[in-house]
Amino acid sequence: MLNIGKQELQTTLQQLDQAIYNHEQWSKDLTRSIICRLPYDNRDIADDAHHQCRFGQWYYGTRPQALRDHPAFVAIETEHRHMHQLGAQLLLAAANEALGSPRDYDSFTNAADRLHLEIYSLKKELEELLNNRDALTGAENRTSMLTRLRELRELVKRGIQECSIVIMDLDHFKTVNDTYGHPAGDQVLVAWVSYIKQHLRPYDRVYRYGGEEFLLSFPSTNLQTVQDIIERIRKGLSAVAIGVDETRAIMVTASFGITILEPSVSVEESINRADSALYAAKKAGRNRGCIWDPTMTPIQDGGDAPQDTIAGEI
Ligand code: GH3
Ligand code: MG
Ligand code: MG
Repeated sequence: MLNIGKQELQTTLQQLDQAIYNHEQWSKDLTRSIICRLPYDNRDIADDAHHQCRFGQWYYGTRPQALRDHPAFVAIETEHRHMHQLGAQLLLAAANEALGSPRDYDSFTNAADRLHLEIYSLKKELEELLNNRDALTGAENRTSMLTRLRELRELVKRGIQECSIVIMDLDHFKTVNDTYGHPAGDQVLVAWVSYIKQHLRPYDRVYRYGGEEFLLSFPSTNLQTVQDIIERIRKGLSAVAIGVDETRAIMVTASFGITILEPSVSVEESINRADSALYAAKKAGRNRGCIWDPTMTPIQDGGDAPQDTIAGEI
């Protein structure tokens, strides 16, 4: 999961569009110089031509660290450098009145095509991320959740990996809104998702499942491991203090329903199981995680959380 805020993502996409446009202009100019035997720009034959072109200036400029570490972004570098090397060879051959071989030209256009593919893969991924984001928290929304969970279940069915899912629900969140106001409640949701994203592994995902409910998915993770991860996150989240004013800070806890994705069970049913486990966690006093087991009461649609008397840590 690419951990970039929504605003930063939008800015990155705008800059990437401009960088793509610049790259295409560069490519046209280069072809024109070669075909018309025009004097070349010295920057295009420099060893670091890939740094000097305008696409390169964007690529090597100040970018969010999460983007720079992202495989789709990293993959661009090699193709881009290679394409510039081949472009420089063609320019030098043209300047020396030598005919570039068709092979050299093909290598150049192949490298340009591969670069094009890498750049557009990154763009598509960023666009999907932006479109699938919940506007308030930046968690993924439910649009792609079922599809992704079904993909995970396919891996489970083929015995490739075990995967776990968790539903998290904030405890007594209505009281938070009633006490501090809805905007303060919103701040809690934003801070919590930010904390969770920072503490999940890159391939784990967090979806906003409902108002103050989130579904977390954990590929390659068995029950024991997910239990450990959730315990760490639960403790960490309960220590997150969101300042309301000089003297007051909101501290909230959450309950977690945990289950494994079973190969013989639909994704929807697995989500129901996680929901039943969440219900059990609420019933057992909140601020804890419960693993689903077959004795747990199935949740009916619209079922309310148990009304116990344990107050949330507010
Ligand atoms: P429980 O421990 O049983 O989960 O208690 P709860 O108060 O959290 O449960 P309940 O489902 O009664 O209330 C959920 C609350 O979450 C009510 C709703 O106003 C609030 N909520 C849902 N979405 C948002 C949101 O986007 N922002 C804010 N501030 N509050 C929200
Ligand atoms: Mg709820
Ligand atoms: Mg709740």
